[in-house]
Amino acid sequence: MLPRVRSPLAIRDLLGAALERENDDASSVERLEHAFAARFGFPHGVLFRYARSGLHALLSIIGWRDQEILSPAYCCGEVAYAITASGNRVRFVDSAVDHFLPGVLEWRSAATQRSAAAIVTPLFGYPVAKEAEAAVRTVSPNVFVIYDEAQSYGAADADGLQSRDADAAIFSLGLGKMITGLGGGMVLVRDVALQRQLKDYRDRLFAHPSPARTGYSIMAGVGAWAAFREPMVSMIDRFAATRTLAKPDIRYRTSVADPKLPDDGDVLMPPYQARVGLRQLERLGAILRARRAIGGYYERRLREEGLLSFPYSHPPTWPRYPLPVEDRAGVIAHFRRRQVQVSDFLDYSCPELPSYRQQAAGAFPHAALWARSMINLPIWHGIDEVRAERVVSTLARLRDRGDRAVRWPTVS
Ligand SMILES: *Cc1c(COP(=O)(O)O)cnc(C)c1O
Repeated sequence: MLPRVRSPLAIRDLLGAALERENDDASSVERLEHAFAARFGFPHGVLFRYARSGLHALLSIIGWRDQEILSPAYCCGEVAYAITASGNRVRFVDSAVDHFLPGVLEWRSAATQRSAAAIVTPLFGYPVAKEAEAAVRTVSPNVFVIYDEAQSYGAADADGLQSRDADAAIFSLGLGKMITGLGGGMVLVRDVALQRQLKDYRDRLFAHPSPARTGYSIMAGVGAWAAFREPMVSMIDRFAATRTLAKPDIRYRTSVADPKLPDDGDVLMPPYQARVGLRQLERLGAILRARRAIGGYYERRLREEGLLSFPYSHPPTWPRYPLPVEDRAGVIAHFRRRQVQVSDFLDYSCPELPSYRQQAAGAFPHAALWARSMINLPIWHGIDEVRAERVVSTLARLRDRGDRAVRWPTVS
């Protein structure tokens, strides 16, 4: 049996954080920064309103202008937008032919002597090829390596945390991420001077949240708590409105044509939200165990049915469960007719975004392939084995009928 886990956004986190007083010795924001740094093996952390604001601040204070920053083509648009908004240039790295993550080959051919930074993203918690990082360092010895663990939260391999050699790492506490502070982005760095500069920059440029904002975020938190529970999860899914109701952060980024940061990205994180984040972080271990149990279940059952899934060298953390199919719309329509839950992904191919399309579209065929073919198997907390099994058997039956829609896609 799969473990039954309640919604990761527990009402006791929201109310407990609202009732707790600020501690005089260390603010909630500082406590969250220390807790994150300790958990993920970095000496320092600095908290922002969004992960993208943190990345933007990091690139800005290092003082780069018009520098080349490597970043996967298959990723959230916010990352590319934060790079462009900082006055630097994104150089996209295509996905591998057989995986949504770029492989050693792709990293090696994208890296140049002028690459100032590389953003390495263990997307969906799948471990990256560490040899790729080494290959980039060979081409550009002073490259600054940033792990984007916005979703992956401690992606690991046999040697431990994958970000062990990185100069920095970013995490998102947005709604719909592994854990949430109802928004928030953490930047972890190794260099103390960099940490001080990041804090100065943040405290100088960012406005203090008003008391009204804290009240608003408590209300938004309770709303999100309700939206992430049954029966709302299924209802939202059935009405296919998941994106507007439960993932406002995701909706935001795809709707903008220009690389700019969110309007409230220059407000400091309210201490209340940092306390929600602290309570969530305490439960990260249990959350990851539940994700791995559900993901592991899909892996085993898909294999038994002779269906392919993405390979990995170490168990992913699975904030989502990605599976590519030849005809995504066809498969989703079929699932909906049978009232089996499944959803699509946003089109993650950054080179196709309006700002980059002119120079880059068409040049990243593998990222484009994964972007149009991925479905998301339900992996929210509390999903039971009956539902998970219906997903697998619906896929297997489609395949048994000889339906092309479920085939593993290839670049035509
Ligand atoms: C959500 C996400 C981000 C951005 O996080 P925000 O806190 O919303 O700015 C960056 N990278 C990845 C992979 C993400 O999933």
